[in-house]
Amino acid sequence: MRPERLVVDPTACTAHGMCAELFPEWIQLDDWGYPMIDSGDVPPDLRDHAERAVKMCPALALKLRRGS
Ligand code: SF4
Repeated sequence: MRPERLVVDPTACTAHGMCAELFPEWIQLDDWGYPMIDSGDVPPDLRDHAERAVKMCPALALKLRRGS
């Protein structure tokens, strides 16, 4: 399986901060509550956490994207 990265759509994100609570290993919040996401490939052992953050984002702003 190709590696996946977590990305945010900044126009859709409403700065709820839920993603950082669910996946703190990968997501920090900036001073305004917007996510700063590690740009690396999500390790397989953290994929469940990433998927849960994607599913729980109330703005549907978070995606897992496959690399090339
Ligand atoms: S949970 Fe969704 S809307 Fe909230 S900060 Fe994260 S990406 Fe943005």
